Amino acid sequence: MRKQIIIGNWKMFKTNSEAKQFMEKAEKGFKTRPDLIAGVAVSATLLNTVKSSSKNLIVSAQNVHFEQSGAFTGEVSIPMLKDVNVSYALVGHSERREYFNETDTTINKKVKALLAANMTPVLCCGESLETFEKGKTIDFVKSQLVSDFAEVSAEDASKVIVAYEPIWAIGTGKVATPQIAQNVCKAVRDIIADLYDQATADKVVIQYGGSVKPDNVKEIMSQPDIDGALVGGASLEVESFLALLV
Ligand code: 13P
Repeated sequence: MRKQIIIGNWKMFKTNSEAKQFMEKAEKGFKTRPDLIAGVAVSATLLNTVKSSSKNLIVSAQNVHFEQSGAFTGEVSIPMLKDVNVSYALVGHSERREYFNETDTTINKKVKALLAANMTPVLCCGESLETFEKGKTIDFVKSQLVSDFAEVSAEDASKVIVAYEPIWAIGTGKVATPQIAQNVCKAVRDIIADLYDQATADKVVIQYGGSVKPDNVKEIMSQPDIDGALVGGASLEVESFLALLV
């Protein structure tokens, strides 16, 4: 049985004091359930604070480098994340792909490096409005996933969280209908089954992301192939974040 995993992606928001306040309130309000994993993905400067103030919520980085160390100004390594006990990292968010030239080649290296370190990649995929309007969503997502999962074993693949985030739904208020989200998340599972086998695909947690809010999260999450959500804007305020954890 797959768990539900809901992660708030704070993007480039919050200072340490704001993050600490958030975590204190969120931990108080979070009603734990054995079938639910919830938490936040935060900027590098906040990781230590947020991790130190977390009890039941999980903490994720928003990015990581695939090398252990080196001359990579501005980057954060896996040993640095381990140093602050962080074991999740977003990989290949569309904003990283669009503004920081991340490619499926580097994303694949990050996925492999995280898995080798027993960490969990939250691998983001998703198409532009143009690709969506051309009806090429599934072909596009398939090309991303084939590259992103290259040289990853079936056992490791089953530990990856895949977040399907159509770019046209991110921060636009234009949420994909539950049916569209389900169709693509089902296609993601089928692609993983083709790459590996059905048993592996059935273990993979698939999230939907893009304008998820407290008032639509339930319907989205009730789809059979959607196991969770990756939420931007609606995760920034504690009340709204807690209202997502239905
Ligand atoms: P919004 O929920 O603000 O649309 O952002 C989605 C997202 O990019 C999460 O990673």
